[in-house]
Amino acid sequence: MATLGNPTNTIEVLQKYNFNFQKKFGQNFLIDTHILEKIIDSAGITKEDCILEIGPGIGTMTQYLAESAREVIAVEIDKALIPILGDTLSVYDNVTVINDDILKVDINRIVEEHNGGRPVKVVANLPYYITTPIIMGLFEQNVPIESITIMVQKEVAERMQVGPGTKDYGALSLAVQYYASAKIVANVPPNCFIPKPNVGSAVIRLTRYEKPPVEVQDEKFMFAVIRAAFNQRRKTLVNALTNASNIQISKEKILETLESMELSPTIRGEALTLAQFAQLSDKLAG
Ligand code: SAM
Repeated sequence: MATLGNPTNTIEVLQKYNFNFQKKFGQNFLIDTHILEKIIDSAGITKEDCILEIGPGIGTMTQYLAESAREVIAVEIDKALIPILGDTLSVYDNVTVINDDILKVDINRIVEEHNGGRPVKVVANLPYYITTPIIMGLFEQNVPIESITIMVQKEVAERMQVGPGTKDYGALSLAVQYYASAKIVANVPPNCFIPKPNVGSAVIRLTRYEKPPVEVQDEKFMFAVIRAAFNQRRKTLVNALTNASNIQISKEKILETLESMELSPTIRGEALTLAQFAQLSDKLAG
């Protein structure tokens, strides 16, 4: 099997298997060797590494990963791709393909089985329709991770880096900034994919902090507060939190807490920094 990553070989494989792209799975396959090399390079992969790839497609990036890492575990939802992957990855004995939904599999168990629970590197050209739940899931389930190097929609990459007061600031920005340092390493135009997506893309590398930049007593509760604040981002923070079904705290207590933090009673969640969300959730839980 020829190496993929260029349009000719990719089209040949797609034709051989009469493959139909599934829009619902966000299938845009990479056909640019420079971008593939850039991703592998930015991920800093060594022969010691165990890589978790989300959505291998026809195995284009998987081939690059298999060449540079010790082991690759690739989780692909589309069962039509499984025989193709069997073919395109047949020469590698260090790749395991799992036919499942990344949002449903027990990733911690996979990491335990394949890497003895030691941190893995996640590398992926993500399906854009579930970028946020994938990233939040990896962090919130405490999957042992060293870094995440991913292709995402350009706007989403920018959202991961912004601070309070901008329209793109949200729960994803705060989650990423709590768990990792973020750096955009490449901007990628639509013509690097087949079929071409309608949006621009970017490769972003998230390097997990050993210790988060703010201290909080109950991470889960802080993210419940953050989610509630941004679920109703047009509302004041007090109303958004009072309306949230999973936060049982009275309006009076929320108002008192905001006052103790010298924040306006009409402030919106989008104005709070990560440190302020940490302080707010500690006070509300206390
Ligand atoms: N890695 C390939 C490449 O770069 O050419 C394909 C990337 S494509 C943007 C996204 C891939 O994720 C597709 O193969 C799609 O079938 C797969 N996918 C979509 N939803 C998924 C899910 N919930 N779990 C696992 N894989 C998924």
